[in-house]
Amino acid sequence: MTQTGTTKSSLLLIYTGGTIGMKQDILDQTLKPFDFSQILDEVPEIRKFAFRIDTYTFDPLIDSSDVEPSLWQRLAELIFEKYDDYDGFIILHGTDTMSYSASALSFMLDGLTKPVVFTGSQLPIGVPRTDGKENLISAVEIASAKDADGHALVPEVSVCFGSLLMRGNRTTKVNAEVFRAFQSPNFPPLAEAGINIRYNKEFIRKPLDWYQNLSINTKLDTRVSILKIHPGITAQIVRTILCDPLTRAVILETYGAGNAPTAPWFLDIVREACAAGKVIVNVTQCLAGSVNMGIYATGKALEDAGVINGYDSTTESALAKLFFLMGKSGDNRWVSTMMGKNLKGEISK
Ligand code: ASP
Repeated sequence: MTQTGTTKSSLLLIYTGGTIGMKQDILDQTLKPFDFSQILDEVPEIRKFAFRIDTYTFDPLIDSSDVEPSLWQRLAELIFEKYDDYDGFIILHGTDTMSYSASALSFMLDGLTKPVVFTGSQLPIGVPRTDGKENLISAVEIASAKDADGHALVPEVSVCFGSLLMRGNRTTKVNAEVFRAFQSPNFPPLAEAGINIRYNKEFIRKPLDWYQNLSINTKLDTRVSILKIHPGITAQIVRTILCDPLTRAVILETYGAGNAPTAPWFLDIVREACAAGKVIVNVTQCLAGSVNMGIYATGKALEDAGVINGYDSTTESALAKLFFLMGKSGDNRWVSTMMGKNLKGEISK
């Protein structure tokens, strides 16, 4: 733990790995992990916010393609342990799985009254045209922003990227090249960083009680599969995934408003899986919009077979929510009921 500044407010900057934390070695020009305890020297702009910023670096640092739910558990435990010492938390994370991690933390942290802001970058912080500095500076400003009563302006788990602050469990990575790598297709941004940071206060979740305690749920059940429907999908593949005895839940990525083939073999397998007590959740493979299984006969057939509506959830959020709910209970009927409830602003319901 390194203290890099002092003043009234304080932030904990947690570095897990990813592109943002790389710097070009002046000798051999290669990209190497950068010592975040020196962050104020590298990004002196964040000094002007005059906050105390401590850093915590994970060991080992990981490319986020290697993220496992154990990292989410460590993050939740770290935030819980340090919660009273800081006004906000910034998690520097690789972009590849940032939406999964932000979704998971949104469910695992309960009673949040402080910001938890994920950020990263497309270009390492140590290269000239990096987007890392802007993302980090915006994240620092947002994580430390308070209203006139001293309450955090954004007391939820968010992703700050490409001038946008988005609810974490609404984000998805949409571009592997441009700086605006993330979108929140079904929910407006919580803030936009231009000349000033403009907060869309009506969309930001506020706690019912600002003095509630944080609690964490770190028990996760990962027995979930994802099946993307496509023309030419075979009965063998569908059966292997839906009826695997080791699988408790399946996310079906369907077409459009939640439609899938009406071939009898397909519906028979879905019925069989539902009858076996599996939780089958319908989310759309479209980037934006919601599942509505009442519109087409193809969607209605799934509903009648026992498939649950995932509404306008991202796949990332549906996966994290299933891990979380299944970790809480062994009762799949309860899990199915809770999947239809809006727990942390992840679905428009
Ligand atoms: N593979 C990297 C990661 O997700 C990419 C990035 O950070 O942007 O960790």
